[in-house]
Amino acid sequence: MAQSSQFAQQSFAPRRSEPLFGRLAIIGIGLIGSSIAHATKDLNLAGRVVLYDRDAVVRTRARELDLGHEIAETAADAVREADHIVLCVPVGACGAVAAEIAAALKPGAILSDVGSVKGAVIDAVAPHLPDGVHFVPAHPVAGTENSGPNAGFPSLFLNRWCILTPPDGTDEAATARTRQLWEGMGAIVEVMTASHHDLVLAVTSHLPHLIAYNIVGTAEDLATVTQSEVIKFSAGGFRDFTRIAASDPTMWRDVFLHNKDAVLEMLGRFSEDLAVLTRAIRFGDGETLHKHFTRTRAIRRGIVALGQEKPETEKLRKD
Ligand code: NAP
Repeated sequence: MAQSSQFAQQSFAPRRSEPLFGRLAIIGIGLIGSSIAHATKDLNLAGRVVLYDRDAVVRTRARELDLGHEIAETAADAVREADHIVLCVPVGACGAVAAEIAAALKPGAILSDVGSVKGAVIDAVAPHLPDGVHFVPAHPVAGTENSGPNAGFPSLFLNRWCILTPPDGTDEAATARTRQLWEGMGAIVEVMTASHHDLVLAVTSHLPHLIAYNIVGTAEDLATVTQSEVIKFSAGGFRDFTRIAASDPTMWRDVFLHNKDAVLEMLGRFSEDLAVLTRAIRFGDGETLHKHFTRTRAIRRGIVALGQEKPETEKLRKD
């Protein structure tokens, strides 16, 4: 059975009677691109969903998976006559893709992206924008540790935030249409500046990934001594880190290279706070430790109360 029709049986967001866009183009067929393709086709958010990836093997796989209505052979072919274009490539590739498609974009089209960093993407894409094309950057705060065209599923964005960061002067109707697209896929949309986004995400997403990459690397270095114990006792916290540290290396390399200032700022504060905990342990200051752990427990409960605690893979199985 084709994967999209298999997913279509799950009701995760209402199907539109009339499409929102005539033609939607998706550049980059990874986890996010394929999830958008599933959702927009299944929910009739676009009359025609056209995809392109630079990798011919990925394009072939996308055809086998029946992603969208058409897999184009070039990025320019995909975006020609498109009303809405979503760049779903790593942050560091957005500028080059914008340059590649610029001449084929039609006036009035909305160009968007899904990059996990916004300031650097805006700086890289904006110089290539032809007159009359609206640029509405977006970041769906949803993902899994999996990548590639097989990884996508249509309910990925359901009840997850999608942050729009339209630069000053962006056409309001274009922002509203982009909001409608993400809300149509079940996301909850918030609008903020790119610099605020990059600072907030440095704490909530980028730093936790760096910590996970670091701790799993440290444990692997120790594995020469402890070998099987690292796996055997992994439920004691380590296992959760290994899931995050399995995230796509290209994507995360680009995130850290392109949100450098905010990540370094947060890393500095993290190190200071860690020094306080280190000191409390060294001097047997149980009160400081207990107070800190009580405060963090309340944060966890707040996240659960907001319904943001369910892993994406759980949504895939249960929704
Ligand atoms: P992915 O699964 O690795 O897929 C990215 C795809 O884009 C790959 O097939 C890649 O091909 C292709 N690509 C790279 N450069 C290209 C180019 N110049 N032209 C056409 N295709 C190109 O990545 P993803 O997880 O979907 O992430 C895509 C974007 O979403 C990133 O900007 C990321 O920051 C953002 N994002 C990711 C998550 C997440 O959890 N994964 C969540 C929110 C937002 P190659 O393999 O040949 O490079």
